[in-house]
Amino acid sequence: MKIDAPEMLARSNRVLRTLRAGHRALLRATGERQMLQSMCEALLEERRYAVVWIGYAERDDARSIRPVAHAGDAEHLVARLALSWDAARPSVSGEAIRTGAPSFGRRLSSDPLLARWRDDPAHRGFGAVSALPLRVGAEVIGCLTLVAYDADAFDPTEVALLEELADDIGYGIAHVRMQARHAEAERTIERMAFRDPLTDLPNRASMRLALAKARERSRPFAVLSIHVAHFDEISDALGRDMGDRLLVEVARRIGPLAGAADDALARVGDDELVLLLTDVDAEPACDVARRIVEALFGPMDFAGTKIDARSAIGIALYPGHGEDPEELMRRAKVAMHRGSTRGGYALYSGLHDDERRRQLALIGDLRRAIDADELLLYCQPKADVATRRLCGAEALMRWRHPRQGMVSPTLFVGLAEHAGLITPLTHWVLEAAFRERHRWHRAGLEQPLAVNVSARDLHDPHLVERVRGLMATWGTQPGWIEFELTESSLMEEPESVIGTLVRLRDLGIELMVDDYGTGYSSLRYLQQMPVSGIKIDQSFVRRMLSDADSAAIVRSTIELCHALELRATAEGVENESTWRALAELGCDAVQGFYVGRPLPVGEFEAWASASRWGGAENAGKARP
Ligand code: C2E
Ligand code: CA
Ligand code: CA
Repeated sequence: MKIDAPEMLARSNRVLRTLRAGHRALLRATGERQMLQSMCEALLEERRYAVVWIGYAERDDARSIRPVAHAGDAEHLVARLALSWDAARPSVSGEAIRTGAPSFGRRLSSDPLLARWRDDPAHRGFGAVSALPLRVGAEVIGCLTLVAYDADAFDPTEVALLEELADDIGYGIAHVRMQARHAEAERTIERMAFRDPLTDLPNRASMRLALAKARERSRPFAVLSIHVAHFDEISDALGRDMGDRLLVEVARRIGPLAGAADDALARVGDDELVLLLTDVDAEPACDVARRIVEALFGPMDFAGTKIDARSAIGIALYPGHGEDPEELMRRAKVAMHRGSTRGGYALYSGLHDDERRRQLALIGDLRRAIDADELLLYCQPKADVATRRLCGAEALMRWRHPRQGMVSPTLFVGLAEHAGLITPLTHWVLEAAFRERHRWHRAGLEQPLAVNVSARDLHDPHLVERVRGLMATWGTQPGWIEFELTESSLMEEPESVIGTLVRLRDLGIELMVDDYGTGYSSLRYLQQMPVSGIKIDQSFVRRMLSDADSAAIVRSTIELCHALELRATAEGVENESTWRALAELGCDAVQGFYVGRPLPVGEFEAWASASRWGGAENAGKARP
């Protein structure tokens, strides 16, 4: 049959209208099913098609095509089709899925692909069928099938437009699925903000809130710090899982003594629980402590292993021993140490606040440490996942205390931040890092070096000028130095921080969000920051193979990063299997003991040129 020009025009107008209706359906979509359904209905609006349906290719043995949405004279029909995308059971829809190209059945009376249609009296009025593959990424996940009354339907113009529409549907599915995953991950992050993910007990943040709430009632209460003995040995010998199960069991035994409130017992550290007892003073608090010690006495049975989980308990009382939630927890812990030497429990006594004295002494020492040359710079490599090559390093501070030996930065950086000492420390690190990066350049090692910058530094009015000065002094090129900023530091007065960040970026300092996932901010919000990458916190990465929540967070953080055109780096990668899982998720870079431990900065170059990650072409080569 010859088709004249006006008829052609009318046809393509109809198809265009269909396309527009389809786009409207996509834009309004809230869920996957609903989107597909309204898509089918939109396609039917023009009354050109008799049946429109969407089927997903199942990966089952029969390779069945599962109808997920349909419209038109389809109810009984689609359900009865029982199609497959197996080559042995040909069908128009199956062929589209198998080949990834549009497929057609034009002559109902003779086309073998239409055999099963022909036998059904219900479809005698149908003229032609076409199926278009639906893709999510590179994978064909199903097909869109249209049945027309007109035997001449599906000319090239129409098919081109339908293909476009099928692409849009595929994109729509991917988008809706990604949104669902992100919503799920954000819910998980929110939940994890107040839960210990391993035991599902409330966490420290939750206890802090509970204590603040208790304080508002202006009645006395007691804070019990409960230390579970042998947690480390058990975790080392039998695995972290066993250690966590031990804590769950301890919590279960304490439960009946803990009172009604479900936020009264929290896990605040690896081996430390805190119990809040409201409306009590010293005597009943000690009474509960004694009963807990008794309840935990006697071994626990773990898969045939008898574990002795006796505990030590310290008690701090509000308001006598402090007002601030953190202070109360800390003092209860100080008392707990005394309890452990007494084989049970102890009440806090101000005279024993040696912890506080130790901290004060350490702050005094830290003030002198910079001038006394006690600070050292270490470097930890980062590797590019795609190339398996070194792609940068993080500068980490170390403090060699003259009497106490190496002091962990997790301890002294926190102390310095509290004591207002972080600015001189950061100055020291910046000096050291710029100098080092210049040496690398002379040695032909062209890798970015990342410096950790604290929240307080971002509010230091001299920071940008200092960086500008260092760049001039050391001839630093854009991209040589990066800053790692924690999520929480970016969220503190973000308006004023953004100005500083923009000026740093304009100087050529790349900015990374550190410890992502622990600050409970939304990546969408971070999008407004001039950052070029995200470092996923090690707590999620290290658990991703054993804990589904962590895996979901890692996966969707990487996805969202890429959607925002940010680079995703995973921290705390300790083994090949984690590396592989991250590679599969498309993570860009990795840092962790698997690639290399932090090294004294002087040893880094040698490591880089000798290691399988660095190798001769990246490192150690003198410049001609
Ligand atoms: P961070 O910035 O998250 O640094 C990563 C920490 O994880 C480092 O601990 C590193 O040694 C450790 N780590 C790296 N890979 C692995 C792994 O595979 N497994 C395990 N278990 N740990 C791994 P480090 O050096 O003790 O530093 C602790 C924190 O102290 C840093 O955490 C950072 O927040 C702070 N810090 C260190 N140096 C500086 C500094 O120069 N300035 C500031 N402001 N903070 C610093
Ligand atoms: Ca860092
Ligand atoms: Ca980190």
